[in-house]
Amino acid sequence: MSDSLNSFVIAQEQLKMAVDKLHLNASVYELLKEPKRSLSVLIPVRMDDGSTRVFSGYRAQHNDALGPAKGGVRFHQDVSMDEVKALAMWMTFKCAVVGIPYGGAKGGVIVNPEELSAAELERLSRAYIQAIAPLIGPEKDIPAPDVNTNPQIMSWMMDEFSMIKQYNSFGVITGKPLIIGGSLGRTQATAQGVVFVIEDLVKKLNINLEGVSVVIQGFGNVGGYTAKILYDKKAKIIGISDVKGGIYNPRGLNPYKVQEHATETGSVVNYRGAKTITNAELLELECDILIPAALENQITDKNAHNIKARYVVEAANGPTTPEADKILEQKGILVVPDILANAGGVTVSYFEWVQNNMGYYWSVEEVNEKLGNIMSQAFHGVYDLYKSRKDVNMRVAAYMLAVKRVAEGMEVRGWISAPHQTKEATRISAR
Ligand code: GLU
Repeated sequence: MSDSLNSFVIAQEQLKMAVDKLHLNASVYELLKEPKRSLSVLIPVRMDDGSTRVFSGYRAQHNDALGPAKGGVRFHQDVSMDEVKALAMWMTFKCAVVGIPYGGAKGGVIVNPEELSAAELERLSRAYIQAIAPLIGPEKDIPAPDVNTNPQIMSWMMDEFSMIKQYNSFGVITGKPLIIGGSLGRTQATAQGVVFVIEDLVKKLNINLEGVSVVIQGFGNVGGYTAKILYDKKAKIIGISDVKGGIYNPRGLNPYKVQEHATETGSVVNYRGAKTITNAELLELECDILIPAALENQITDKNAHNIKARYVVEAANGPTTPEADKILEQKGILVVPDILANAGGVTVSYFEWVQNNMGYYWSVEEVNEKLGNIMSQAFHGVYDLYKSRKDVNMRVAAYMLAVKRVAEGMEVRGWISAPHQTKEATRISAR
């Protein structure tokens, strides 16, 4: 894979940009450019036919200066250590930008879960946790759902860890089913956070959300709930896609009906009353807001010139490459970056962990009110910095806020000396 599409190289580049803008000294970059700890595991799993398949799995803990490492586990055929390392770094900055007391981590297994039976998926989930058990724990590192993992998988994982420990450890995993310590509002939380950010954005821009045209790439947990919540708020969802393709109707789609069709047929494509289009065409549709809610590297230097949205709100992690960022900026398209826009999921994961630690559970109203406050505060922090600096876009502004907080944490803990470059350091590094 070329460096321009290697998520880890991209994440390092984004970090470097923030470190430079903040004039932080080299040790900040040195300590943040790689994960603090990472583990690569081989996971033998007994298949239903009696054979054994060996899966590769990873867990990377990027940084834990501000609290236990936190981040989801992805089950996907394209998972790699570099992808997991990038996603772990993004988690550190995501948690820092919304100001929740966590560091960043991520895990993944190379697997297409659609090829597994439920029993095989359970054995794989449990075996993965056995393999990474020395690394995780409610005070150390707390996994959660990500692409192709869900509350049932979180339940098996939590149970496996609890079996190893010989006591219930609800707080080791978030995104669990309600009955075993999940939080109300967690399933929709990433989407709800995306919508809170969009509401703040349109308010800033004096636009009414009603009738705003929206295109969403991805119809999984995040894309699906984002479509439904925005539809309930009377935004016009004109395009939706999943891995098999997209659908388009300029008069608007009802995502609840699209969901019924997708549940019946396995995809959004061929939905009645919409034109079936490709994923590439979907991204280039004329619309007010484009929401990539699938995987990394969807908007690149190849298609950025053709993006016709006015705003891009990144519900996925890493959907836009740095080259594409520059092109979108030149075209005057505002990008609300992933580490801000999709932080709602980990924020309610944090609420879930707090509730597990207390053994006292909140109403969905309480969860959403707290989530709204956190997202709004983070949005305004980033937006105000972006507006006041004039020389940075929203992504760099978000990174600046986040990296500054993590650097401050590392400094007061004594991991690095004063994070700001002294005159001497500037002189030396300029040589
Ligand atoms: N997988 C989600 C993310 O990328 C949530 C992580 C979590 O809840 O820990 O932000």
